[in-house]
Amino acid sequence: MRLILLGPPGAGKGTQAARLVANYGIAHLSTGDMLRAAIAAATPIGLKAKDIIASGALVPDEVVVGIISDRIEQPDCANGFVLDGFPRTLPQAAALDALLKQKQLKLDAVVELRVNEAILLQRVETRIAEMTARGEAIRPDDNVEALARRLEVYRAQTEPLIHYYGDRQVLATVDGMMSIDEVTAEIGRILRGTKSASAKTKNTAKSAGKRQKVQAPAKAAKPARRAARSGSAAAKRRKAAGEAGKESIRRATGGSRKPSRRPAAVRAAAKGGAKKAVKRPAKKAAKSRARLTKRR
Ligand code: AMP
Repeated sequence: MRLILLGPPGAGKGTQAARLVANYGIAHLSTGDMLRAAIAAATPIGLKAKDIIASGALVPDEVVVGIISDRIEQPDCANGFVLDGFPRTLPQAAALDALLKQKQLKLDAVVELRVNEAILLQRVETRIAEMTARGEAIRPDDNVEALARRLEVYRAQTEPLIHYYGDRQVLATVDGMMSIDEVTAEIGRILRGTKSASAKTKNTAKSAGKRQKVQAPAKAAKPARRAARSGSAAAKRRKAAGEAGKESIRRATGGSRKPSRRPAAVRAAAKGGAKKAVKRPAKKAAKSRARLTKRR
């Protein structure tokens, strides 16, 4: 299983990545963590990255591409990996494509965690205040100014990846404003629809069954549309978040920027549950077409 988690800082990528590691036995590749480790060890990369990270800007593409290229060769990546915080720019995405092709590896899915930025900023401010009150160490880029810069950088440089992967039909979008368990369950549903997950289920049906229990505990994680119809608290929360999100885009752009038109895969996800946004394995599609023809 190889996947990318996309989303702005504070969207919950790290939390979900940790769960994916536990549930699928894959490696967690966070370029942010690797860069922070390099800073702590005062390596040449760390020294180069230190001030850039503190300011909320991006480290040069070639630095992170080099790190990832070395990292995916490691034995713990043999079973797959979840990329968290990489790629962050179009050149990084193109470099990753080339790397995977060269190593004859395939990406199973790209999961975008979509969040409401206004609520995100509030959450981070609260978290910083709480950590300060407890006397805990805070990341140098965990302050309101750096976060605002990181969000700006995300919009300008990373958001185009949503279209990049949408065009390649590997993108699924999940409402990141749901509870952590609901997001985990939704990601689980998406991954169960991918080729590598179905191959694994065939081979290790027993253990996969066990894994799924751990990974998708929440009956509560209904597809957004069904939940919205039932008028549940979670659905109302999601609806409110969506409205607030649109409002924050309008405010941030002085009402000029319309939310961009999303690729077909994303629209499909919004309409009928994220699972549909993941490309259907060709064999499966052919089988169901054959079944339909028979019935007719
Ligand atoms: P993160 O922990 O993913 O939020 O990353 C923290 C910081 O590390 C970012 O704000 C960037 O300065 C840097 N960084 C992490 N990943 C990348 C990347 N893929 N490309 C460039 N800079 C990165």
